[in-house]
Amino acid sequence: MSKVAIIGGGFSGLSAACFTARQGHEVTLFEKNESSGGRARVFSEQGFMFDMGPSWYWMPDIFENFFAQFGQKPGDYYQLIQLDPGFQVVYGKDDVLQVPARLEDIFEVFENIEKGSAAKLKQFLAEGAFKYKVGMQHLVYKPSFSWLEFAKKEVITGAVKLHMFQSVSDYVRKFFKDERLVMLMEFPVLFLGAMAQQIPALYSLMNYAAFSLGTWYPMGGMAGIPRAMQNLASDYGVDFITGCEVTKINIGSNKASSISSGKGEYRTDGIIATGDYHYTEQHLLEKQYRNYDEAYWDKRTLAPSCLIFYIGVNKKIRKLIHHNLFFDAPFNTHAEDIYKDPKWPENPLFYACCPSKTDATVAPEGMENLFLLIPVAPGLTDTEAVREKYYGKIIKRLEAFCGEEILQNIIYKKSYCINDFVNDYHAYKGNAYGLANTLRQTAVLKPTLRNKKIKNLFYAGQLTVPGPGVPPALISGQVAAGQLLNYLNTKQ
Ligand SMILES: Cc1cc2nc3c(=O)[nH]c(=O)nc-3n(C[C@H](O)[C@H](O)[C@H](O)COP(=O)(O)OP(=O)(O)OC[C@H]3O[C@@H](n4cnc5c(N)ncnc54)[C@H](O)[C@@H]3O)c2cc1C
Repeated sequence: MSKVAIIGGGFSGLSAACFTARQGHEVTLFEKNESSGGRARVFSEQGFMFDMGPSWYWMPDIFENFFAQFGQKPGDYYQLIQLDPGFQVVYGKDDVLQVPARLEDIFEVFENIEKGSAAKLKQFLAEGAFKYKVGMQHLVYKPSFSWLEFAKKEVITGAVKLHMFQSVSDYVRKFFKDERLVMLMEFPVLFLGAMAQQIPALYSLMNYAAFSLGTWYPMGGMAGIPRAMQNLASDYGVDFITGCEVTKINIGSNKASSISSGKGEYRTDGIIATGDYHYTEQHLLEKQYRNYDEAYWDKRTLAPSCLIFYIGVNKKIRKLIHHNLFFDAPFNTHAEDIYKDPKWPENPLFYACCPSKTDATVAPEGMENLFLLIPVAPGLTDTEAVREKYYGKIIKRLEAFCGEEILQNIIYKKSYCINDFVNDYHAYKGNAYGLANTLRQTAVLKPTLRNKKIKNLFYAGQLTVPGPGVPPALISGQVAAGQLLNYLNTKQ
């Protein structure tokens, strides 16, 4: 039995802890915040319960697959329901498109907007299904140390159909003309941290995830997922030390021998570091042991950060549903403010999540729990005054769309932005979602999962493979655990 240290208690750390502990190792997880969950933590105020980060439960098969490896199902821990409609897109005050749960109904919505588009969507989703199958079976669970890992028959023979070398944007435009449908089809890849023009069309598999696999919600809130994983890890004997920041990874004989924290030194035979990769390398490791330097990180394309408002409203808001995307402002201008010429956007798109539409436990009776999010470039100057300016702007747009007063009914409000991501998670430039999945930052081209100089140190999480998002973070922890277990097995 070896002593394993996991740094960080987000999805990737929890996943890594479960997989390493299952093999009988003595696993300790160190988390700097008072609770685990990472970016998916939760807080309660005045009877409202706010999920701090993720709100979209997509790719339910990945969660099922995770729990199945421990002989469990998500349903053993939380009740999952499919949202219907899955979400709505607001293009203008009276121009709203709702995406129903049933595929047949989605085809009808498309056909009503653009003649012939239902058949095109069918073909688009069939191609997406192929990419999803190949992606999940042959691409994302690889450590991505070498391109040879992907030299599988299905990948090679299907390479043309994977559309690696054209962008999602070009690909979508081959199928659809109506700008509203184009925006809708380009939206799912925003989860990957870049614009559709920069993302390989392989990732149109996200449309398959959104439309064919559905949008789900775990009753009680998204934080139920990390809670379930923590319970599972505890059942395998993982020791959780929260409120404990790791300050140094100590090296002896070219191996990580211990970690230092505010709570003392802990001897270890292997480490999986799942905090933001940049911070781990630059602050916990001496220079000669780092994979990358500051210049490398500065050249990466980061996924956006965001400005969030957690809001409690003392009445029900009629026109909102659970997930609402406000695409009633020019898409490209906002994108340029994030990726091309980073600055605070003049007229931003935003997302409004209202989980109290589905779940009565997240707000007092007759009230609404609102989560408003504006994607912004990482590294911007974040001040109270800027936050307030955007608060005013988007509440006004929300009121205009809903056709009712909201501002005067707000009884709780808390903002969260770049400075908080840095303080809470040591996020590089205050990123929210890690590193973007652009072509140049895919698979082998991402920051590697292993430390090239220290054999028993691995990384996991949204800045390494396979990328940003909850399902990839689960997978990342699993893949890193597999690598550490290989090392521990061969060492003995
Ligand atoms: C606002 C927001 C909305 C999102 N929405 C969605 C969504 O709807 N659907 C989706 O799939 N994904 C979504 N994501 C992305 C998803 O939440 C993340 O990709 C995922 O949670 C990342 O998990 P992780 O384990 O890589 O990192 P983290 O969650 O950041 O976990 C890393 C942990 O390491 C800890 N840590 C760092 N340094 C140290 C140290 N030195 N010592 C000890 N502990 C340390 C941190 O405190 C943190 O808890 C969203 C993210 C955000 C921020």
